[in-house]
Amino acid sequence: MSIVSILLRARDPGEGHNVAFGLIAVTLATIIFYIDTYTDIEGAIAVLYVVTMLLAAQATTRIGLLVIAAGCASLTLLSYAMTHGEEADLQETLRLFGALSALFVTTMLLLKTETARLNLLSTNSALKESEARYRSIFDRTRVALWERDFSKLRRYLMDVRAQGVTDIKAYARTNSTFVDHCIGLIKAVEANEAARELLGPISSGIGIPQRSLIAGEEKFLDMLQAILNGDRIFEDKVEVRTDNGEDKLVLLSISLPGDPAAFSRVVVSMVDVTQREMVLKARADAQAELMRASKAAMVGAMSASLAHELNQPLGAIVVNSQTVLRWLDRDPPDLAAVRRSAERMVRDSQRASEIIQNTRNLLSPSNSKLENVCLDRLIGETMALMEYELQQSGTAVLVDCKPHVPPVWIVKTELQQVLINLVTNAIQAMEEAESTRRIIRIATGRPDIEHACIAVHDSGPGIVEDVKDKLFAPFFTTKATGMGMGLSICRSTLEARGGKLDGTNHPDGGAIFEMHLLIKPEAEHA
Ligand code: ADP
Repeated sequence: MSIVSILLRARDPGEGHNVAFGLIAVTLATIIFYIDTYTDIEGAIAVLYVVTMLLAAQATTRIGLLVIAAGCASLTLLSYAMTHGEEADLQETLRLFGALSALFVTTMLLLKTETARLNLLSTNSALKESEARYRSIFDRTRVALWERDFSKLRRYLMDVRAQGVTDIKAYARTNSTFVDHCIGLIKAVEANEAARELLGPISSGIGIPQRSLIAGEEKFLDMLQAILNGDRIFEDKVEVRTDNGEDKLVLLSISLPGDPAAFSRVVVSMVDVTQREMVLKARADAQAELMRASKAAMVGAMSASLAHELNQPLGAIVVNSQTVLRWLDRDPPDLAAVRRSAERMVRDSQRASEIIQNTRNLLSPSNSKLENVCLDRLIGETMALMEYELQQSGTAVLVDCKPHVPPVWIVKTELQQVLINLVTNAIQAMEEAESTRRIIRIATGRPDIEHACIAVHDSGPGIVEDVKDKLFAPFFTTKATGMGMGLSICRSTLEARGGKLDGTNHPDGGAIFEMHLLIKPEAEHA
């Protein structure tokens, strides 16, 4: 840093220094010194050094001011010594002190002014920097942004509120020109590049028609209500029409400032969520479709089990009917034996009816109410439903139900479907690997205060290493005829009820799938 830049301040950042002002100050000081020392003019000439200081203050830094003040004080003392030497009288000494005091006070005041000026400069430059940063974010961000002047609109709404209006929608119904009037009060200030890309150059320009920003009167009135209520943010999903007539769904957000003066620059932002919403809808439709498909597949799987189960009571009914006929044909008929057989027929018919009822419950869409489900009973019922498959595949099921596990809060048929899916997967895994010991261990437990769990552990080959990450991904399957939706649906079914599903390999071999299920707090004491 050069001595010039230490002593003299620059006119503007990047420009040259105020050398001219410095030279004038030095010349003036020299003239004052000459008059004070070499002329007979009586009076406090040295006080004029104050003028030098004032001039120098326009051009010099704080250090420069101190240097010049010290210079002027030295010149005053030097002149005093040269003209009066040791014979100075009281009046001249007082004049000397007067001049030095004036110099001191002026220097202090100028230093204070200079400090205030520097503070102001630094505040200004911070302000400029922040404005530039805001500009650059505004221009370059990929979020569509508009600056709008809402000050007139806010003033008008405050007047409306002062008349006692609190419900904008009701007010708009009684005042047909209200919405148009409000729209007319909003002034567009600026739009960024992303805004132009989103809606097209015309709508995004300075003269943006308001309705292209908030389509539909209802949403616009909601926004007015937010201003009236003094809310700090207004957010909504709205439909907008672009310049080329395309409809888009956007997430609109308006930051409403707390300071009324800032309503002249309100920032409106929009994020295009059209694609996302379409994907979400398509996914939900596909999930629902697959849910239906998976239920249909289950009907197929269960019909075999149903036929098997009904076979036994129906066969028994036929045998008992024949027996009844035989006892009746006797002479005299054995009515006691007829009664016994008829009672057995009633019991078997009831069993057949229960089997059908259970299956109907499992498939009925109306049967989707949340209830407290006892895990022991549910596992028992489900295994009874799967008895045929288990027998056919030679699989043994070992159930280990821990005591004191409270019921879980779930839709019973959903949990049953998940369990059937996991057991079916286990049977298939053991069949594919041609396991000699086919055992499925089903255990219940209480992993934490809020959840109960059911673990399904098979004695199959376990989950293949590079399959682990994709296990729950939709349409992932390693089976030739698999759909790859079973585990994905099971997981989302449980998650929708506050539970979860995880699968991994058991240290003793085979795969283990664990369901965590929500316990309704009061269920524990029920
Ligand atoms: P799918 O049964 O139609 O293949 P799932 O989503 O039910 O669909 O299963 C996905 C994949 O997870 C299966 O193809 C299989 O590779 C693997 N998997 C599921 N359960 C087991 C299990 N008990 N043991 C080993 N691998 C399993």
